[in-house]
Amino acid sequence: MADSTRYPLPFVPHHQSPETPGENPILFAFRGRDLLVTNDLNLPSVEEIDSQGVEAVRTQYLGRLGERHCYSAELPHDAQAETGFRFADLRMLFATLDEMIHTLAGRAVQIVEWDRTHQYCGVCAEPTQLSEADRSRSCPKCKIPTYPRLAPAMIVAVEKGDQILLARSPHFPAGIMSVLAGFVEPGESAEEAVMREVFEETSIIVKNVEYFFEPGLALSELSHARIPGRIRFGRDRDRRRGNRRGRLVRGGRDAYRLPGQDQYLAVADSRFPRAERAARP
Ligand SMILES: [Zn+2]
Repeated sequence: MADSTRYPLPFVPHHQSPETPGENPILFAFRGRDLLVTNDLNLPSVEEIDSQGVEAVRTQYLGRLGERHCYSAELPHDAQAETGFRFADLRMLFATLDEMIHTLAGRAVQIVEWDRTHQYCGVCAEPTQLSEADRSRSCPKCKIPTYPRLAPAMIVAVEKGDQILLARSPHFPAGIMSVLAGFVEPGESAEEAVMREVFEETSIIVKNVEYFFEPGLALSELSHARIPGRIRFGRDRDRRRGNRRGRLVRGGRDAYRLPGQDQYLAVADSRFPRAERAARP
């Protein structure tokens, strides 16, 4: 077994719970995809979560952050938060949760959701069993393992000169726009996903797709693409698709607001000086 004291990352993932939770464990309790938090949008202690008196449907061990063991819990869909607590979407919690805790909450919600939706075999409907060997559930009859599903996605800043392309989706609140993003389809490269999504959403053909960050193991990429020449939006296409429409903007606070949030798209790179300025409320 590898020497865990030499592990190169602050969080050590593992699927098997230790015998005792040890001191000051971390617990992410979800109702659906919403995390139980304090009214000031911070993570409650395990004692505070216990005091809600809500029994979890199931729990999962996530791993260890430093010396602290981390767990997730799926609460019943009708669970109510006590006074002083609330349930919040993780996107609401960017600014209040510690960055590492927020990242772990993102990991937790995916494992909770995977566990909830893979209780039965998709082939023979037999109840699945948790593997002792890895983070998977297997059908005892078919022996087919299912693992937490990863959904590679891309997000792209399409630039033209000092302008950036933003679009809005029908489910965004009024006045909110964002850079384009989407999931990578089977058999598609991240670069192809960028070209397809931008064309599907705005009828714009992008060519010079570059990575903004190195891909590494992170499958969610921020790319940027430059468009030469004049841009024409496909207005007929936009009309058919409802109110999704692209536009180029030259900054302004609302232009860089993240959907539904009082957060701003802060891109800390010298190639986006305007976005950095806009990121300051
Ligand atoms: Zn089966």
